[in-house]
Amino acid sequence: VRVVPDWLQQRSEQQPTRVAIASPDGSWTYHELYDAACKYAASLRNLGVLEGQRVAVLAKKGARYALMLHALMQLNAVIVPLNWRLTGEELAQQLADCEAVMLLHDAACASLAADLCEFYQVRLGAHAIEQLPRSTEPIARHNVDLVRPHALIYTSGTTGRSKGAIITYQNHWWGAMASVLQLGLDANERWLVPMPLFHVGGMAVLIRSLIYGTTVVIHNGFDETAVNRAIEQEGITLLSVVPAMLQRMLDHRTRPYPATLRSVLLGGSAAPRPLLEQALALGVPINQSYGLTEANTQVTTLQSVDALRKVGSSGKPLAVTRVAIDTPDGLTHAPNVEGEIAIQGPTVVSGYYHRPEANARSFRDGWFYTGDIGVFDEEGYLFVLDRRADLIVSGGENVYPAEVESVLAQHPQVLESAVVGQADARWGQVPVAFVVAAGNVAEETLITHCRTHLAAYKVPKAVYLLKELPRNASGKLLRRALKERLSR
Ligand code: AMP
Ligand code: MG
Ligand code: MG
Repeated sequence: VRVVPDWLQQRSEQQPTRVAIASPDGSWTYHELYDAACKYAASLRNLGVLEGQRVAVLAKKGARYALMLHALMQLNAVIVPLNWRLTGEELAQQLADCEAVMLLHDAACASLAADLCEFYQVRLGAHAIEQLPRSTEPIARHNVDLVRPHALIYTSGTTGRSKGAIITYQNHWWGAMASVLQLGLDANERWLVPMPLFHVGGMAVLIRSLIYGTTVVIHNGFDETAVNRAIEQEGITLLSVVPAMLQRMLDHRTRPYPATLRSVLLGGSAAPRPLLEQALALGVPINQSYGLTEANTQVTTLQSVDALRKVGSSGKPLAVTRVAIDTPDGLTHAPNVEGEIAIQGPTVVSGYYHRPEANARSFRDGWFYTGDIGVFDEEGYLFVLDRRADLIVSGGENVYPAEVESVLAQHPQVLESAVVGQADARWGQVPVAFVVAAGNVAEETLITHCRTHLAAYKVPKAVYLLKELPRNASGKLLRRALKERLSR
């Protein structure tokens, strides 16, 4: 079976008055959401969008983003969610890569959309979501073809341009099933997502709640006070955050959280022990997980009862997922063997859009090679030891040193540079740069240079000038030596 009834249509018929989306900009019941989605679908069709075409969405208001997501699904068009923290130049590369035919943006992203359009001409134009007409002749698709691509989500790599992971409806379906097997379902589920919706983590909450017929609570950006208040007053049952967000919530809270909050899903990076202890003391059940875009979120999850017993572990594979460690002798599940983590299962994407070389490198014999280094313990719990190639995670966003270094290299005074992560109380980590310069160049000049080409979270928070970079005998850069300087 590859065709099933349309998820939204079925919810709209079976539970029309249940709230599908609650947000600062309004609430939609399943019936209202279906009605709006089908009418926006018609207006997008009138503007020329066809089945299978890529449409990019750039929106800070989560409710607007969600409406467009549903409208594009009714058209069987492919959504390309854009990270509004990136620059127009960075975003234009993604649109060009997938030949997006249209850009939908909200008012808050209007000037970024205009910047983007200077670098990439969008064939069917850039349209302000607020100004889209709502057609009176709705369009509906009635079925979901599970093997169809639903979204292209761009994820950066250690080298070169970011790649579009092709997420299918099937990837979503299995993700939803694996998640519910782990967490169960509360009849009054209200899943709060203060994370941006353009990453897989945010999108997964929207799609899973749709499949379950439950409520998504959207916040436009993370605000710890608003999150704490929603948990206290609005019956939030599930919450998806990154460790840096949880830390800020707990810093503003002394009373225990209500028992209605049944799980906090922590992703993006491993949480430190003090944070876990602080959380458990306030009655917060934590489910640490290891995930990535290419797996449409989780690969492994740690049950909350194990949170302290297995600090640093990301738990065990989902019910539908296989995880193995790559060794010179092949893949293994043996304990205490370190190596690259390889994964397999129906939530794992089948490839990147139009990237035969990257696909050949990462997708082999039915496995996806993550680039992360991990190890199983005797009880089968996975520990992610080292992230792929010096990845810096800052407030849940990934920063690849190579990308920042290549922007620094464009500055005429920069001979070479190395970017490393520095521990930061607020963001977990922030990038800082060590630079070997041709002459005298002010730190501020280089930071300003980075700011014009890179998203703010990628811009080094400090630049240190060095006479030379530390290297080993064979010339390999010693990033660890630079990190040690920072901690001194
Ligand atoms: P992305 O594909 O952009 O969502 O980033 C996924 C990457 O984040 C993974 O490949 C890991 O390097 C890192 N990551 C995610 N979860 C964890 C975790 N629990 N522990 C360590 N690193 C993680
Ligand atoms: Mg990635
Ligand atoms: Mg991430």
